[in-house]
Amino acid sequence: MTIEQQINELRRTLNLYNHKYYVENNPIVSDFEFDTLLRQLQDLEQANPQFADPNSPTARVGSDLTSEFRSVEHAFPMLSLSNTYSLEELGEWIDRNEKEIGQTEYVCELKFDGTAISLTYEQGRLLRAVTRGDGSRGDDVTANVRTIRTVPLVLNGDDYPDFFEIRGEIFMPYSSFDRLNAERTEAGEQLFANPRNAAAGTLKQQQSQIVARRGLDCTLYQLAGKTLPYDTHSGNLDAARRWGFKVSEHTAICKSREEIFNYINYWDVERKNLPFPTDGIVIKVNRDADRRILGYTSKAPKWAVAYKFKAEQATTRLLSIDYQVGRTGAITPVANLEPVQLAGTTVKRATLHNADQIALLDIRVGDMVYVEKGGEIIPKITGIDLSARKADSQPLEYITTCPECGATLVRYEGEAKHYCPNQNGCRPQILGRIVHFIRRKAMNIESLGEETVELLFTNQLVSNIADLYDIRANQIAQLPRLGEKSADNIIQSIDNSRQVPFHRVLFALGIRFVGETTAKYLAEHFRSLDAIQSATREQLTEAEEVGEKIADAIIEYFADERNQQIIERLLNAGLQFEAEERAKASDALAGLTFVISGSFANHSRDELKALIEANGGKNLAAVSANTSYLLAGDKIGPAKLQKANKLGIKIISEDEFIAMIGDNDTLPTTTAEVAPTKEVETKEKATSQNTTQPIQGSLF
Ligand code: NAD
Repeated sequence: MTIEQQINELRRTLNLYNHKYYVENNPIVSDFEFDTLLRQLQDLEQANPQFADPNSPTARVGSDLTSEFRSVEHAFPMLSLSNTYSLEELGEWIDRNEKEIGQTEYVCELKFDGTAISLTYEQGRLLRAVTRGDGSRGDDVTANVRTIRTVPLVLNGDDYPDFFEIRGEIFMPYSSFDRLNAERTEAGEQLFANPRNAAAGTLKQQQSQIVARRGLDCTLYQLAGKTLPYDTHSGNLDAARRWGFKVSEHTAICKSREEIFNYINYWDVERKNLPFPTDGIVIKVNRDADRRILGYTSKAPKWAVAYKFKAEQATTRLLSIDYQVGRTGAITPVANLEPVQLAGTTVKRATLHNADQIALLDIRVGDMVYVEKGGEIIPKITGIDLSARKADSQPLEYITTCPECGATLVRYEGEAKHYCPNQNGCRPQILGRIVHFIRRKAMNIESLGEETVELLFTNQLVSNIADLYDIRANQIAQLPRLGEKSADNIIQSIDNSRQVPFHRVLFALGIRFVGETTAKYLAEHFRSLDAIQSATREQLTEAEEVGEKIADAIIEYFADERNQQIIERLLNAGLQFEAEERAKASDALAGLTFVISGSFANHSRDELKALIEANGGKNLAAVSANTSYLLAGDKIGPAKLQKANKLGIKIISEDEFIAMIGDNDTLPTTTAEVAPTKEVETKEKATSQNTTQPIQGSLF
């Protein structure tokens, strides 16, 4: 390969990795591997300046821009950080600084592993939140950021500038990440690889109600502007803290190289005890005057550097690959590894995600592979040691038939995974559906465990969820390990499940993509199984959180004759197929009709609908002369707005609506259990804003 070809190949590969990382939030190589390739490209470009290209990944900030959001130009570019994995290189950076500015002060900060955000405040109120994008323009994600409780909507004190920008990181604490992935496991949805991807993916959600529930957090680390209130970074951070921003308490001023290295060594160990993800330390020159002398490259400030921790990695041999079949038929390839020690545990298995990932990395049985454990739950194969590959190794051929039942696998449009379509004849799918049905969050048939379900299935007592309601105690009592007492308990808890409310029954059915929350929204919106079954695709998507993919899965489920038979039997068994009647809160809206459109800061649309009904009002689907009010949120449908204007219908905001129902703005208990509640932002204390202090100093 010529040098030029090598450079082009590296650029192509890095562009692909950038896209996977920033846009799809689904990295396929480790950061270390990415940074090593980037360094290789940098070295080649430096030695061969005739091949320079301003569009090279070495010259540009990786872009997270997407088409779904309005893009906004940054007043000051949002740059990246130069990084190093070596203390020696960090020492060289300090040497270079000293040559230019002499001995100086540094601020050491944790490098939060999330996604960068720029917040703009005007008169002490949050005006805009924009992602880094490509550094010059970012996506406007204000509605989503407003739902993050640690982002102040109104500032404290009176010494903040009239108009200023502050930058920081939106991240997902481990507790939120674990909860989110547990929910996704239950719903049969693809898991987020790590908290960084989960945070970046969440921030780009179209519905801010989803963002509100996911438990994001935000820490701020840099005021940006031509002029800043204080002439040191630490002074500005203290001010930001006073104004109500969450600024890391683990920030330290270091006056010597030794203090910097001590800080790094301390956090290299201690970061493992932090409740949120970090991937390094950022070392910044403290004084603005010094920063101005050091300046910038096209991609990063020269006055700051990130020392990155290497994710713990091990090398081991890939022995074989198993293919697991999930409840929905999704196939997950799992690598069996020669046992190896990694981050305090012995790793024997690692996830391989799907066929595409295997093909991209060209993973082969017998390869020496790199295994990493970042924030991930299951260790991941991040690369291959090609130099150790045997000459006779063969590319891996992904399976084409189900390892359990032999059915030919299918791949649905837009899905990375293969599926076994034999829903009713494939053992793990049948068992998986029954196990899902009995779970605590579904029908809560607590005395039946996974093993007993297997026993019932093997003894041909149960082959689908409806069969559970036909079994008798004496049939169970005859099975090995089960006596009369357990049989009675099982029958009792099956019996109790007849009282489980509709939204949980709906979740228990195991319709593809209908997780716990979606089931709640569907139940709240349609109120009965009949209404869901007879809804068109378009009507289904009117329910909160239901997109076309979910609507199609619902339609497909009900179109299947076998599912119809099961539902018929469950209905006869006395399960709840209708939502409980809504309790009345007041008659404040008696005689009034409402059309709701757009998305709202504090309530989901279905919550608002429930509130309207609970207070005696009526919901209408379309604006007509009979409509009393159009309740308008963000991104309201233009047709509805136009029609309301034409007919002279009063348009009200969420706040005005809440004012109409006064104290009856919480749902009575029967509906509150059904309607998922949107996390309500804490109202920040209003403060006086009489400052005109200019911002001085450097920008970032
Ligand atoms: P970066 O994440 O290495 O560093 C810059 C970012 O750090 C800032 O934008 C900010 O968001 C964040 N940050 C966190 N705490 C901070 C603090 N206290 N002060 C200042 N900034 C702080 O750089 P990047 O440009 O976002 O991403 C490049 C890096 O991303 C690469 O070096 C690589 O490691 C990784 N990457 C990985 C892949 C992959 O496929 N694995 C692909 C692309 C990029």
